[in-house]
This record gives sequence, C-alpha cells and structure tokens, in this order.
Amino acid sequence: MKREGLLDLNEAVQHPGKKLAFEVRTALDQEEDLDLLEPVSGTIEAVSTGNLLLLTSRFKTRAVFECARCGAPIEKDLEFVMDDQFAVEGVPSAYSREGYAHVVEDEPEPMFQENSLILDHYVRQGLIVNVPSQPLCSDSWDGPCKEEVKGQENERLSGHPAFKALQGWKKGDEE
Ligand SMILES: [Zn+2]
Repeated sequence: MKREGLLDLNEAVQHPGKKLAFEVRTALDQEEDLDLLEPVSGTIEAVSTGNLLLLTSRFKTRAVFECARCGAPIEKDLEFVMDDQFAVEGVPSAYSREGYAHVVEDEPEPMFQENSLILDHYVRQGLIVNVPSQPLCSDSWDGPCKEEVKGQENERLSGHPAFKALQGWKKGDEE
C-alpha cells in the first residue's frame, strides 16, 4: 500500500495533550459522485486524550451541483467542519518506554492505517454528509428557477399582452 495520502498522527497518539495541526489539500481523484471545481483544502487538528484521538477540521472547496427542481448545473462554494473521535488503545510511548498506543477502528471503510489518517477517506466522509441534499439554482423553493425567470423576462420583452397587463397592474399596485 502506498504511503501517499497518509497523514501521520503517531506523535499525537503517543503524546496525549499534544496538539498537532496540518494544512491539507486533496483533489479526491476517485470522487465520482461530485464534480469538484477545485481541490478540497483546509486544516486538521489532532489531539489525543489517551483513550480518544480527537480530530477537528475545517475544509472548503467549490463544486458543481444539480438543481433539485430543474436540473440546471449550479456552482457553489462548500465549507464544512468535522468533529470526530477515534478510540485509542495501548499505553502511549510518552508514559512508558515500551508503550505504543494505536488507533482502533471497526468501520467498514477504514480511516486509519496504523496511526496515519487516510486523508481521502476522511475528507470524502465529511463531503458526503455536508453536500446540500436539495440544492436550488434560485434562492428558495418559493421563488421560481432561474430559467423560468429568464423565460418570463423574454416574454415580457417581446410584449406579451398578458405580461404588459401584469406589469401595469404591478406598477399601479406600488403607487
Ligand atoms: Zn432550478
């Protein structure tokens, strides 16, 4: 297995209380469900309590989504934070010369290889839960889709009598 894409957190695992911080960036090459316009970048902070390895992360990226109503592509910035904890077993080497603590996991898709975080697995999990479930090309479900607005605008400009009447009525209403 290649070491690429691994973030070595052993120093945090062996030294409870010691906080590590990393700047990370990944293009998530194998991401099929989401069309990323730029790599996911951000920071990861790791600290061990002795029994738990705590990870706090902040990421941002930009991706293409599909409008849940009209299917139009939408470019959106996506920012998310992650707060995770992983069980740690064993005596940290900071406490005992023969000690070696290690992260334990029973996930179907492991996040760790020994005490190294598999960056893409971790970031992907954060992405999946933070992707908007029903993105819209307009601002809300109350308003129409952008294409619809454009269509109405075109009809108005072409002088559709119904829209002229509506315009007049709206103007009168405002005064
Ligand atoms: Zn739409």
